[in-house]
Amino acid sequence: MAKRVSMLDGHGKKASTARVRVAVRLRPYMEKNEDKVCVRGLDSQSLEIINWRNQMETMQYQFDAFYGDKSTQREIYTGSVFPILSHLLIGQNASVFAYGPTGAGKTHTMLGNPNQPGVIPRAVRDLLQMTRASAEEDWTYSITMSYVEIYQEKVMDLLEPKNKDLPIREDKDHNILIPGVTQKTIDNFSDFDEYFIPASQNRTVACTKLNDRSSRSHAVLLIKVQKSQKIHPYRQLTGKLYLIDLAGSEDNRRTGNQGIRLKESGAINSSLFTLSKVVDALNQGLPRIPYRDSKLTRLLQDSLGGSAHSVMIANIAPEQKYYFDTLTALNFAAKSKQIINKPFSQETVQAPVQSILKRPREDTETAPPPQLKKTKLETVEESPNSSTESLSKHKLQLSSLEPAVVERLLKLDKILTEKGRMETQLLSTPKRERMALLKKWEESQVEIERLKEKQKELEEKALAAEARLERSTGSDLEMSDSSVSESMFREPLRSRATSTAKTKKVLRVLPMQGQNCQVNIQEETIPVVKKTSRKTSGGQENEPGWEVNMRTDVLQNGREKILQFLNSGSLKELKSLQKIGDKKAKLILGWRELNGPFQKVEDLTAIGGMSAKQVTSFLKANILSIVAS
Ligand code: ADP
Ligand code: MG
Repeated sequence: MAKRVSMLDGHGKKASTARVRVAVRLRPYMEKNEDKVCVRGLDSQSLEIINWRNQMETMQYQFDAFYGDKSTQREIYTGSVFPILSHLLIGQNASVFAYGPTGAGKTHTMLGNPNQPGVIPRAVRDLLQMTRASAEEDWTYSITMSYVEIYQEKVMDLLEPKNKDLPIREDKDHNILIPGVTQKTIDNFSDFDEYFIPASQNRTVACTKLNDRSSRSHAVLLIKVQKSQKIHPYRQLTGKLYLIDLAGSEDNRRTGNQGIRLKESGAINSSLFTLSKVVDALNQGLPRIPYRDSKLTRLLQDSLGGSAHSVMIANIAPEQKYYFDTLTALNFAAKSKQIINKPFSQETVQAPVQSILKRPREDTETAPPPQLKKTKLETVEESPNSSTESLSKHKLQLSSLEPAVVERLLKLDKILTEKGRMETQLLSTPKRERMALLKKWEESQVEIERLKEKQKELEEKALAAEARLERSTGSDLEMSDSSVSESMFREPLRSRATSTAKTKKVLRVLPMQGQNCQVNIQEETIPVVKKTSRKTSGGQENEPGWEVNMRTDVLQNGREKILQFLNSGSLKELKSLQKIGDKKAKLILGWRELNGPFQKVEDLTAIGGMSAKQVTSFLKANILSIVAS
């Protein structure tokens, strides 16, 4: 009887848990729209990336290997993949992953093209050669391949697609198997081509039908090398090599991928998240490795860690639009990270901090007067420690501005200070917490951008008002009115004059920020919207025309945000919406699970328990909440 010893090392002993080696590959700059570069290599193990908080600092990361944008397919293969292949011939397992956001070069690295073949064709070719060269008198080698796709936590056969979720099992020797998966024997490279190319097309066909499914599924190629003894005791050693093109690591909620369904994104995120936990646990030498938490890691249980040899190639892109996805990828498995007191790169990036924080619009705009410009830069660049001091400086400088403008600027300042504090925390906390904090920070980044937009608007208005004041000596009451309300609401001029003084303290809740940002609940002065409502004869508030009083783009934007939230929010997040309690949130989740995404907010009447009137009131409350925030 053949004996399988694939979980044992060459000496027949259980090997200790192995680290996952991490290589980072930076792809060449490809952006046509002149997006700025935010990351670059330093040496064969490290790179630097702009520190979004401080232009005088660079974040430097170190890995087992770093491949710069000029590196070739051959260099990556010979440096990080070829050295592990020999282990397969003695019955050990190995895995190679390409990780990173969509567009950063995972498929290029794994597959490549006929002119620049990637890791997969090179590894198959070399394994075929190695087995031929190593054939001994009493032993024979054979190579088989299987190719599956893991999509929404389902394992699908790509060699013979059956539209069936294949099971994953563990035998008594702790080998992981996929019973029923197609296995093809490959004797030479053209055999491999014959099976692999149509199978890849199976994936591509599905991809066009299902809205770029390929970037949201894991493509798992399994190459088994079997060494069999021709004479008694007929031993058999099996070495497995997994070559994996992972799903894109980008955060689909942040990138606003409208087409993506919650279940789908959840499944991808959870398996990538589990993979990161597994890699983390292996590299920290933790006793418990959470392989069973996802299909992908369960499948890899005998080929990732243990006696296996694993290489993760994190693919990153240099363009600024990938900045946060790059940070996520770098934090995924960095060996070390440090902040260096030097600007990123004065030659290639003219204004590093602004390039991250600044809106493109500002590049083309006419420069504001010196005083305002200075104020803004100081606000942005301010370090958390000096916030009180510089705030009072701002107060002095801003004293000539209108109160609403000052209010907004101070609020922005507060958020930026908070942001700075979060970054300080990021650098001194363990990796997993860092990831969570980073996520939280990214969410608040959206809010900051919005406030900055608002700040800009207010500054412009203040300037215009100042200019008007210089021209006439008219009442300043009229000027202070317009700054906030005019931009948000379309009101007849007459009613505006009377509504100016009507401001009211309200509790501000930011439902769109998710549960993390509940900390943002705070008191703030905002214009009262009620003033635009009509009173019915019974004296009750009835606001049939409330939409009319809002700018249509604000309204439309609000509707879209709410819809997006309804289609992707978790139970907790849904409950953070105005007028949605536990019961309604559960109804929404249930309906969405059964029927897919809501097409419009009014579809809420279909979940049961919400009348058309209640939906209108829900819509109104939440749009107002967005506007207020
Ligand atoms: P991903 O699989 O991560 O979504 P791709 O591998 O499809 O990314 O790469 C996106 C684009 O960039 C493709 O057109 C690819 O050919 C190109 N590309 C990626 N990496 C490189 C590289 N190192 N050199 C040249 N082109 C590259
Ligand atoms: Mg790809």
